[in-house]
Amino acid sequence: MGRTNREMRELAAARQEARTDELTGLANHRRLYEQVDALLEEQPPRAAAMLLLDLDRFQEVNDGFGHRVGDQLLHELAARMQAALRSSDLMVRLGGDEFAALLLDAGESEALEVAKRLSDEVERVVVIGDLSLRVSASIGIALYPQHGTDVDTLLRRADTAMYACKQEHLNSRLWAPGARDDDNWLLLREQLRAALHTDELVLHYQPKIHLASGRVRGVEALVRWQHPQLGLLPPDRFLPIAESTGLIAPLTTVVLGVALRQCRAWRDQGLDLSVAVNLSPPSLLDPDLPMLVLSLLEHLRLPRHALELEITETVLLGQRQRACATLEQLRTHGVRVALDDYGTGYSSLAYLSQLPLDELKLDKSFIQALGATPRDEAIVRSTVELAHALGLTLVAEGVENADVLRELVTFGCDSAQGYHLARPSPAETLTPWLHEHAEHRVHTAATAIGY
Ligand code: C2E
Ligand code: MG
Ligand code: MG
Repeated sequence: MGRTNREMRELAAARQEARTDELTGLANHRRLYEQVDALLEEQPPRAAAMLLLDLDRFQEVNDGFGHRVGDQLLHELAARMQAALRSSDLMVRLGGDEFAALLLDAGESEALEVAKRLSDEVERVVVIGDLSLRVSASIGIALYPQHGTDVDTLLRRADTAMYACKQEHLNSRLWAPGARDDDNWLLLREQLRAALHTDELVLHYQPKIHLASGRVRGVEALVRWQHPQLGLLPPDRFLPIAESTGLIAPLTTVVLGVALRQCRAWRDQGLDLSVAVNLSPPSLLDPDLPMLVLSLLEHLRLPRHALELEITETVLLGQRQRACATLEQLRTHGVRVALDDYGTGYSSLAYLSQLPLDELKLDKSFIQALGATPRDEAIVRSTVELAHALGLTLVAEGVENADVLRELVTFGCDSAQGYHLARPSPAETLTPWLHEHAEHRVHTAATAIGY
């Protein structure tokens, strides 16, 4: 028995619906998969480009003006983007504020051209009621067949390129061979993105001890990720992901907020401490950083010198002047700056005198070698002198035993950190220790021999 006309119409409508995004009327991911599958079967192969587009700061519109405004914005942008494409191209909404475009017979230059057109469309003001909204987009591009010969690889690589755009503040870019895009890495990236909104990111704090007095000068905040499946992850497991995907800015904001609130809590208990926060190189290029830092300090009624920022020599590469300007701005307001892992990177004496600094932290590799060879002793001794000559204090990191500590004291090193003095630990564990050592100073060899 054949189907009635009505049944046929309903079936066609259902099929259409299953391939259409309800909110925008664009095609959905099912259509995209079908279309790419069809493309892959064509002989001889036909060139194509996969564009993956993600709106920047869309979340702020949603949070600030509500989902209805957010939905209207998506609807309008979808219509504009659709209109900017040829009828043979496919515009798709993948979900949330993520879109894809499949361009047939397009190579590198056509794909970049279309990406530019789409991002211009997105950037034009959208008027909703009495609101004028303006957003921008990041577009990653993967080419078929050069960059991938199945839909998942193409999407994954376009996605990797899209994240690189966000990181580099570009509107669009092509996937580059060598970019990380394996499944584990992408999964961890998505989980990290979600973790920024939970309390899975935790801080451990390690005391910095003033050697001559045995007093705790402050603590360094060190981030860890309490991952629901993988356990407590050290920073080197997830910071590289954050740094290469634009997640480092929100991560730094979280760390600064938690660390400074903890500092406030300690000060309220009578513990006069400063807190040091590590900054990744991209954070120093973030024009919003000084405002963020200063307003947090003010909001928490903390003196500016209660915060120290630890940077690494990597800032000397790339956009040095911009990074220096940011640091200078913070320093003129009283925030202290330390150069971390000194001696492992690209430091030259010329740069050292140009950087706006208060403190040098000699890398633990030199400290741990102390006692082993006279050469390392000479390095440490002369670094203490160099720091003092430049008006900087010297901190030794990675002090693991009493012999090393004693040597550092005789060299005139100002402060030290290390497992021998105190391990990094959560605030709950550290707080009683801090109270105890506010009364009875930390034993530092200098305090023992009555410096
Ligand atoms: P760092 O800033 O040089 O921090 C010192 C590292 O040495 C920490 O490792 C600390 O746990 C470890 N350490 C401390 N005392 C000793 C010791 O006596 N012996 C040895 N062998 N190690 C010691 P961790 O916590 O794994 O952090 C590694 C790096 O990750 C940090 O190096 C810092 O560059 C980065 N990092 C940590 N937290 C953050 C953060 O919130 N933001 C950014 N951007 N980077 C962070
Ligand atoms: Mg550090
Ligand atoms: Mg270090």
